[in-house]
Amino acid sequence: MKYVVVTGGVMSGLGKGVTSSSVGVLLQACGLRVTCIKIDPYLNIDAGTMSPFEHGEVFVLHDGGEADLDLGNYERFLDVTLTSDNNITTGKIYQTVMEKERRGAYLGKTVQLVPHVTDAIQDWIQRVAHAPVDGKEGPPDVCVIELGGTVGDMESCPFVDALAQLSCGVGGAGNFCLIHVSHVPVLSAVGEQKTKPTQHGVRTLRSLGLAPNILACRSNSPLEGYAREKLARSCHVSPGNVLSLHDVGKNLWRVPILLRDQKAHEAVLRVLNLGVGGDEPDLKEWTARAELCDALVEPVRVALVGKYMGLTRINEDAYLSVEKALLHASVALRKKLAVDWVPAEDLEDGTAQANPDAHKAAWNSLKGADGILVPGGFGDRGVEGKILAARHARENRIPYLGICLGMQIAVIEFARSVLDMQDANSTEFDAETKNPCVVFMPEGSRTHMGGTMRLGSRKTYFHHHDGCTCMAAKLYGNESYVDERHRHRYEVNPEMVSRFEEAGLWFSGRDESGERMEIVELLGEHHPFYVGVQFHPEFKSRPGKPSPVFTGLIAAACGQLESVLQQSHRESNDGFEKTDGVGKVVEK
Ligand code: GLN
Repeated sequence: MKYVVVTGGVMSGLGKGVTSSSVGVLLQACGLRVTCIKIDPYLNIDAGTMSPFEHGEVFVLHDGGEADLDLGNYERFLDVTLTSDNNITTGKIYQTVMEKERRGAYLGKTVQLVPHVTDAIQDWIQRVAHAPVDGKEGPPDVCVIELGGTVGDMESCPFVDALAQLSCGVGGAGNFCLIHVSHVPVLSAVGEQKTKPTQHGVRTLRSLGLAPNILACRSNSPLEGYAREKLARSCHVSPGNVLSLHDVGKNLWRVPILLRDQKAHEAVLRVLNLGVGGDEPDLKEWTARAELCDALVEPVRVALVGKYMGLTRINEDAYLSVEKALLHASVALRKKLAVDWVPAEDLEDGTAQANPDAHKAAWNSLKGADGILVPGGFGDRGVEGKILAARHARENRIPYLGICLGMQIAVIEFARSVLDMQDANSTEFDAETKNPCVVFMPEGSRTHMGGTMRLGSRKTYFHHHDGCTCMAAKLYGNESYVDERHRHRYEVNPEMVSRFEEAGLWFSGRDESGERMEIVELLGEHHPFYVGVQFHPEFKSRPGKPSPVFTGLIAAACGQLESVLQQSHRESNDGFEKTDGVGKVVEK
């Protein structure tokens, strides 16, 4: 097993996740099979109990693991399926060590950070590194390990030490490549790229037992020759191994290309003794997609009605996979994605008095949108604003996609407006409502929050109306069921389903028991595209393979729904059509 370890110096937020994923893409393009591990040194067992304010979205894995959003980057960039074991936290390591201690398996020894905790970390890494994640048999060739946080943080020390031990153990010479991501700022008064922060970061790294093979330097503009020379000399890395990771704008698909152009793959392959000088890595698909993305001009405007705010506006990381899924679908349909981030609370009447400008801006965004998306969420803040957004979409026949909470919202709105149940609500927000159209799932835990939701991949079976194929099934290519990932505690009240259906809100997807509602849609005569899904389709969307539900929303938003449905029908009849990776059919 070859290990590529990515650490970060100076400060957080430098893009270690995108760097790790991009290095993975390059190695894949060299013909290697790649897996990934993200280490998060916090004490939580997983990201599931953390607010999106803390670390952005919680990425849900196939096996139900609630993980850091970087695992989403890896899955999307490398088109792999990871497990919760691919995300290591201090919490998980300590839990393992403490369970072992309670079993008496340390045989009377004093249990210590070194060697017991560091051994547990190395054992975990080696076990997970060997598990295939690309659907093929046998272990991958390379495991990319990203260490979260900044080297020198107190909480990451056991991990740094474990990696240092790994670097001279199984990951000895030729099996271990360390890429250190750092920051090279420019002081405006001098206009010079400053290398000192990186020098200090590397010194800290070395003092903890790790030496960088490659430096990846984040900067606003390309790294200048003098800065490269200075970094190489002072950090003891060859000049060819100092990479410039300058800003590429919003189009992150450019990062693997940026690295390839600097021959980053050769630097890594050389350290890993994997032989340099073979064919150039094949990045044709990446390049085509990145260029297409930049060349698109005709916009499709989607209002994303969220609630997790950053300092001044919505924290986009809280909806990262949703935004990526919108992008995948837009690029496939040759539209330039314009997301209008609408804070749900700003739509509410209360804001009209408290902050009329914000209220007006939110409504202007909503009214100007070609499509409206209400994503998942927890807690009652902003719920009434989301309900207003769903009503606006329904009444004005604007394409609507509700995800998880967004589906539950659509059901509540319909009950209030169409079935005249004024106090209809979810028991999550009003435990006493007389019309509980969304209720707590019987198997959930009310006392334990960690890992107790309905999580991970579950099957959804399609239910057609009056012999007509439902919209959702058409989008999914007329399959009888689909596997999508879930993360929820509440569900549509099964006892109220028939009343909704009689009024035109059709539950077109259900679980295998038929009792749990998975997809809701307004029947064709009521609305062109009004779909809610209890699952999170954003987690399985990939560049070049957009999620069908997102494709439906974007197609409806730009008047292409009919042709998309026809194409999906043709594909399901004729067998699979191969696309060029950016959505164009090249081969049947
Ligand atoms: N809070 C809702 C539930 O638990 C929705 C969850 C979500 O949107 N992920 O069912």
